Amino acid sequence: MGPGPSDVPSRVLQAMARPTLGHLDPQFAGMMDDLKGLLRYAFMTANPMTFPVSGPGSAGMESCFVNLVEPGDTVVVCRNGVFGGRMKENVERCGATAVMVDSPWGEPVDPAAVASALEQHPQASLVAFIHAETSTGVESDAAEIARIARDHDCLTLMDAVTSVAGIPVLIDDWQIDAVYSGSQKCLSCTPGLSPVSFSERAIERVKNRRTPVQSWFLDLNLVLGYWSSEGGRSYHHTAPVNALYALHEALVILHEEGLEAAWRRHRTMHEALRAGLEAMGLELPVAPAHRLPQLNAVRVPDGVNEAEVRRRLLEDYSIEIGAGLGEFAGRVWRIGLMGASARPRNVLQCLGALDTILSDLGAAVNTGVAVAAAREALATPAAA
Ligand SMILES: *Cc1c(COP(=O)(O)O)cnc(C)c1O
Repeated sequence: MGPGPSDVPSRVLQAMARPTLGHLDPQFAGMMDDLKGLLRYAFMTANPMTFPVSGPGSAGMESCFVNLVEPGDTVVVCRNGVFGGRMKENVERCGATAVMVDSPWGEPVDPAAVASALEQHPQASLVAFIHAETSTGVESDAAEIARIARDHDCLTLMDAVTSVAGIPVLIDDWQIDAVYSGSQKCLSCTPGLSPVSFSERAIERVKNRRTPVQSWFLDLNLVLGYWSSEGGRSYHHTAPVNALYALHEALVILHEEGLEAAWRRHRTMHEALRAGLEAMGLELPVAPAHRLPQLNAVRVPDGVNEAEVRRRLLEDYSIEIGAGLGEFAGRVWRIGLMGASARPRNVLQCLGALDTILSDLGAAVNTGVAVAAAREALATPAAA
């Protein structure tokens, strides 16, 4: 119940144990096509260029930047937590200039600040932002940021590592040009794969580059020789075959449940957790309108050693939650309700354990009421 990896269903682990096929085997190629279709569903896009990068979310991030950014470019980077800082690093390593739009920790990206950065830097060619900031548990308004970028003739690059399958991610409706996600968060797969999707405008940009993509491994023009079924597949790198079986199975599970139902489930579990935490007297620092259901920042009560609480949760109850990062270090816990981890058992066990531990440590909390409050919230599920 931390910021990922989430619980991996046994169906996914069993899929991984299937016999390893060759990465050019016709049966495996059939699964790759299926997998791309399932990813288009998860991203709500018709983009043909939708496939998993062989590497963790950070490789998907890098893949988007190295293909879309060239030396001398100007990129507007929105930063409201840890991951926006990594985007800046990527832009600068591509030889481009990052114009930073900073928002305080715990708050969403300010669309008006994005608009004014674009007015001051009309040469900007790309706007990059994090949809679901895992370091703070905040959702930013992706549709609005993408609309502003389009008004200024910029492409948009969105991090959807924590958002996909947890909250709506509507790539085509919002007209996002490049997006990357991760296998181990709300998709509940093992870590190590990064689904990505590129719009036609993005592909056009890649094809018209003045300079070659500086990464051979992540160069879309080359990777697609393998992932695109047109013209026969050619060897690029040996695909992580068994990891891809796992991702395929995780996406089949998501498809069986349905995206809308998965979003609703995350919302319902979040409301139950919130009800329990608030009954205990704990505070959630993020404003309700911007809270991510799948990543809950919780303020550490005064006088409580936050690391001791996490240690006891892990050792006595086998529950892992996350620590605060950056400005939130030592001040918040991060409780994940991602994918298969977003279920009543996890919410109730976590609240029960926290109740016991905080009372034992003499924290000023209302004891014995959290689980009942969560059960009551579970009896009245969130609306769509
Ligand atoms: C986890 C995460 C990443 C990085 O993913 P890795 O698989 O750890 O490389 C990037 N962005 C966000 C928002 C994340 O939560």
